[in-house]
Amino acid sequence: MGKILFLIIIAILIFWLIKIQKTKRNNPKDSIESIEDMVVCSYCGTHIPKNEALSNENNQYFCSAKHRELHIKP
Ligand SMILES: [Zn+2]
Repeated sequence: MGKILFLIIIAILIFWLIKIQKTKRNNPKDSIESIEDMVVCSYCGTHIPKNEALSNENNQYFCSAKHRELHIKP
């Protein structure tokens, strides 16, 4: 009876460790995703956050409205 309880405790510990490893793996992914949100200005090549960047109909990103206009009319 004691052996069965011991095996159950070990099984719970293994599941718990797997769960911890999975959450540890998920956290760096979140930071990578935030880095991936950086886009490059099609005019000057500056890296800018996607939410701050301006885009045109060709899915190109620009750091400012001025660079977007300059890219269309060089
Ligand atoms: Zn620019």
